[in-house]
Amino acid sequence: MTDPRLFDGAGCWLERLATDVPVGRPALFLDRDGVIVEEAHYLSNPADVRLIAGAAEAIARCNGSRIPVVAITNQSGIARGYYDWTDFAAVQAELIARLAAAGARLDAVAACAYHDTGSDRYRVPGHAWRKPNPGMIHAVADLLQVDLARSVLVGDKRSDIEAGIAAGLARCILVRTGYGCTEEEALPYLVAGTTAVTATDRLGDVVADLLATDWRA
Ligand SMILES: [Mg+2]
Repeated sequence: MTDPRLFDGAGCWLERLATDVPVGRPALFLDRDGVIVEEAHYLSNPADVRLIAGAAEAIARCNGSRIPVVAITNQSGIARGYYDWTDFAAVQAELIARLAAAGARLDAVAACAYHDTGSDRYRVPGHAWRKPNPGMIHAVADLLQVDLARSVLVGDKRSDIEAGIAAGLARCILVRTGYGCTEEEALPYLVAGTTAVTATDRLGDVVADLLATDWRA
């Protein structure tokens, strides 16, 4: 495997998608499945990519306000042998094209294939990049020179929120799309430190508020 986007034993994927990313800015970290695209249970076929209503518009709004937008996604389906990085790349290409058609872009993507029940090469318990660990957030923050303390994460699982808390983000927001409805009961039990943890219906509902409050210029 020589794909330059893969490293650390080919279980981690890090890709900058834009050259003109503003530095020193807070970023919007997004889980992919259940937040940007409909949860499809181990999404591996580009034909199954369905943008969640309002997601592209929310991302475009951040793009227009010089807020880098990043996807961070656990991909244990690779560890489990359900699909491979080629399939992941094809899904990403479809997602990026769909977003572009709506005038939106992701500035970077990070993905982690490692899982504690994976097949040999990808069997790594508690890998630093796999959410709820914050490794993907830190890697992208280094890559894009992000202001983490003012950054926000939106996810649909407890593990997403825990990763954002571990990274010391300003705010973590659980959406009720994807798995979000069933995960919301965990929110009161998360230890958040200085991170604000809240819930909302979907990604499209939160960006206008963030731009008017946390990220007001
Ligand atoms: Mg998800």
